[in-house]
Amino acid sequence: MKSQPRHQAEPAAAAPQMPDAPPNPLLDAPLETLETPVALPLETPLAEDETLPALDPGDIVEEAEQLLREGAPHDFDVLVIGGGPGGYVAAIRAAQLGAHVGLIEERELGGVCLNRGCIPTKALLESVDVMRLMRRAREYGITLDGSFKPDFRAMNARKTEIIRGLRKNVAHLLHEHEVEVIPGRARFTGEHSVQVTPINDEGVERSLTAVHIIIAAGSLPMRLPVEGSDLPGVITSDELLQQEVVPEDIVVVGAGAVGVEFAYLYHELGARATLLEAAPAVLPQEDRDIGQEMERLLREFGIGLLIGAKLERIEQAGDRLQAVYSQDGEENRVAASLVLMATGRCANTDELGLDAAGIEHDNGTIKVDESCETSVSGVYAIGDCIRNVGWAHLASGEGTMVAETVTKHPPTVDLSHVPSCYYTHPEIASVGRTREQAEKEGITTRVGVFHFRANGKAAAAGDHEGFVKIVVDDATDKILGCQIIGPRATDLIGEAVLALKTGQTIDEMVGAIHAHPTFSEALPEAALAARNKPRLAD
Ligand SMILES: Cc1cc2nc3c(=O)[nH]c(=O)nc-3n(C[C@H](O)[C@H](O)[C@H](O)COP(=O)(O)OP(=O)(O)OC[C@H]3O[C@@H](n4cnc5c(N)ncnc54)[C@H](O)[C@@H]3O)c2cc1C
Repeated sequence: MKSQPRHQAEPAAAAPQMPDAPPNPLLDAPLETLETPVALPLETPLAEDETLPALDPGDIVEEAEQLLREGAPHDFDVLVIGGGPGGYVAAIRAAQLGAHVGLIEERELGGVCLNRGCIPTKALLESVDVMRLMRRAREYGITLDGSFKPDFRAMNARKTEIIRGLRKNVAHLLHEHEVEVIPGRARFTGEHSVQVTPINDEGVERSLTAVHIIIAAGSLPMRLPVEGSDLPGVITSDELLQQEVVPEDIVVVGAGAVGVEFAYLYHELGARATLLEAAPAVLPQEDRDIGQEMERLLREFGIGLLIGAKLERIEQAGDRLQAVYSQDGEENRVAASLVLMATGRCANTDELGLDAAGIEHDNGTIKVDESCETSVSGVYAIGDCIRNVGWAHLASGEGTMVAETVTKHPPTVDLSHVPSCYYTHPEIASVGRTREQAEKEGITTRVGVFHFRANGKAAAAGDHEGFVKIVVDDATDKILGCQIIGPRATDLIGEAVLALKTGQTIDEMVGAIHAHPTFSEALPEAALAARNKPRLAD
């Protein structure tokens, strides 16, 4: 499929002299001597009552347009906008499948995930995990001589090194697959054409065309539109990850994934952290039992929790900030030196010129069908820019699926079971349906729960908070969902994803031998607990 890029086209050779064409009896015969052409017989004649399948005129036009595009001169078979986990995975997969691929990135390769999201936060959380263990060293029979304290500068330097290494890996992979990385900002000038404008004098202005375009422009942090949200010291996750000193105290607005992780991180680093959430629970989108357990643990750690508290405004009070909130009909305030707005994200599409290409969107969030195709045929969108807030692994899964689709290969990714992961201590992870969701769909369920305090590895590790919950279909014993709060939850959830993908039953999960002692034994134990419950129909 690798086509000759337009800018590398060979200069047109002089047209060869054509020899005299041999006589063509059809063309040369006088018109009146030609018999009326008869239709060629079909290889398999239609039966009398058989009809040809109806053709959708829309499909025919789309197919014709596609053929025209593929035949027309273009720079790339596939052009990807954005080098985050959606974009770079799509680019590499398309190149692996033989496409000539370009990838436009205006900032750093790796996107939010690698530079301002998953990786920097997890690098810092690993540092505080070491401290957490050091504080408990005596429990493990270790005497530490002298004191220890976090060196935030050194933690940040470690984080930066990790990011730099991974960024290099991404660049290397793209290079290895002959993906042309084009620095600059992309803007649509037509359905299949974009203008690339260099940023910070890197690269050159270019006009590019492609048969397929994949938009993977990601998202940007959003601030709540309240008075004072632009005061100095009111920041988003982007700025918090740039801080060089740990503040004395911090108010985190929003108890979703980003908010809970940062509240936990800064608490462990020594700041007084307060979480302020308008919904009646932390991690409101997760299973209620899991949210309640997290809430209990956060309080136990000493993190301030203001639940059902709506941020009204932020005021400056000397060199400090005051977050004014209403709760149970009363107005109150909490002071801090920093206020983190962990209150959602929005698609990063303002500068993309979507309207110039006629790409439909909802206030910037790109509309796509189940194959991630936009309203413009041959233009796809994946990752955060189609949902505002997402997961890196979902963006990568969509990138793989679209790359396979546009190179005419059957999609290999199953996007129906996407795990959610939270890297607090203990960790939280979930996939599939919660009991409430299944019951709302009219499915009768049984739920098995297993607590880590009864798990050998958890006891040995001294890490025994939390539990695994497995939701099964009462009629078929098929696993419908799994929620975990506990050690290594984000790794353990992989087994549950596979169980859902392969339609595993309780017996199949229990029947697979799990090594002992491991945290992973908690999953079949939870499944066993569900098996031992009487069927509701019995
Ligand atoms: C603090 C934080 C922690 C997170 N932790 C996790 C986690 O642990 N696990 C997880 O799965 N997810 C996590 N996420 C979410 C995850 O980072 C995103 O879901 C993921 O990065 C989305 O990938 P993407 O490819 O869609 O977009 P992005 O990663 O946002 O990449 C988009 C890229 O496109 C570029 N771009 C945009 N517009 C243009 C343009 N016009 N021209 C050229 N380039 C352009 C941007 O510069 C950017 O590099 C976290 C997010 C945050 C903020």
